[in-house]
Amino acid sequence: MSTPERDAGASATGEHAFGRAPASPGAPPMVVLPGRKLFAERAQRLHRLAERLPAMSDYLHFMARIVEAQHRVLQQARPSLTDTADLAIAHDIPPLAVDGLWRDMSWPMDLEALIADLDPEVPAAQRVWFEALREAPSETRTELAAALLGGEPLSADATAMAPLVGAALQVAWTRQARGLAHPPGRPKESVRALCPCCGAPPVASVIQIGMARSKVRYLHCGLCATEWYAERARCPQCGDSKTLGYHTLEDHSGDRVLPVQAETCDHCASYLKVVQREWAQDADPLADDLASLALDMMIADRELARRAFNPLLVLGSPA
Ligand SMILES: [Zn+2]
Ligand SMILES: [Zn+2]
Repeated sequence: MSTPERDAGASATGEHAFGRAPASPGAPPMVVLPGRKLFAERAQRLHRLAERLPAMSDYLHFMARIVEAQHRVLQQARPSLTDTADLAIAHDIPPLAVDGLWRDMSWPMDLEALIADLDPEVPAAQRVWFEALREAPSETRTELAAALLGGEPLSADATAMAPLVGAALQVAWTRQARGLAHPPGRPKESVRALCPCCGAPPVASVIQIGMARSKVRYLHCGLCATEWYAERARCPQCGDSKTLGYHTLEDHSGDRVLPVQAETCDHCASYLKVVQREWAQDADPLADDLASLALDMMIADRELARRAFNPLLVLGSPA
């Protein structure tokens, strides 16, 4: 006598809570949409990093306040832009593509909400640019957002304001990504380093922990926080595996300072950070990228292109 089949329907539908059905039972999901507590957990991580890194304490605590505001503003309702998502996914187009959607996204409203939320607690050192951004007309804000999304160089004034605009862009895209009924499939090989939801580059890769994803590497989108599968020990940009190098920050006794490596690739002369949640389970791709700026400086003489897209870190910003 065979035992009755149980739960056969759940695995036969082709879709489940984490995305498209894995190729085999227990296989990790290929694409994972952002979770509800993303910004709350990121803020906690930033506060903890601020305690551990006294030289960066003020900066990281302030970034944590921005991320806490992101968490609150994310809860505010905005119109959904996901009506055509299934059609886009069926045609292998990112359903929240930056090029197509950025003028329709709610980021101007989210920016206004972030400014209102942060106003009572902006420290004196940040007050000048904060006031300038609050008074800036919508055309100036739009130019800034376009430059950020396009990776264009910014003026000194704009550089100081950019992280808060970047924070608003993240809130707008993360909210829409969370509203998708199911994630898109893994990106094709030719665009493997671009987010399958919005087409933006990753902020870092992350070695995950937890039941289905233990030791599996994902790229973490700098804009909408979607994560997508990426082989370990293979350059996310060019796919090379022979010329990779790994660099970490160490203290005087040779211990690792942060659960972060710079994965450098000589083949395409670029690097992206790897955040190892196996080494610190609360590590966060964006928070740990901000906290490990010294790692970028350490390898600066290699003249490798930093491929990360971190809207909260605009180079030249006061750090
Ligand atoms: Zn994305
Ligand atoms: Zn490469």
